[in-house]
Amino acid sequence: MQDSTQAQKDKLIKALTDRGANLPCPRCGNTDFTLLDGYFNQMIQEEPKGIVLGGRTIPSIVIACNRCGFLSQHALGILGLLPKEESNTAEEAKK
Ligand SMILES: [Zn+2]
Repeated sequence: MQDSTQAQKDKLIKALTDRGANLPCPRCGNTDFTLLDGYFNQMIQEEPKGIVLGGRTIPSIVIACNRCGFLSQHALGILGLLPKEESNTAEEAKK
């Protein structure tokens, strides 16, 4: 994570809380989660078959349920926490 300080994590958690993304786990109902260090950066593929590297991605944070391990992802662009040069990808994530 570029800035994996506790302050950065607090900022991410506040962004989720401000948007009401603080409901219990959709799988097991647990209310304890862990914000993972680092990001998922999933690739957007234009075609259903094969993988093209180097295209658009959706930089996301990942929250893990502490009981069942369910992973939820939140796009940084939507949260307004993406550096400017990557904001085009964030716009894609809104579609
Ligand atoms: Zn769970």
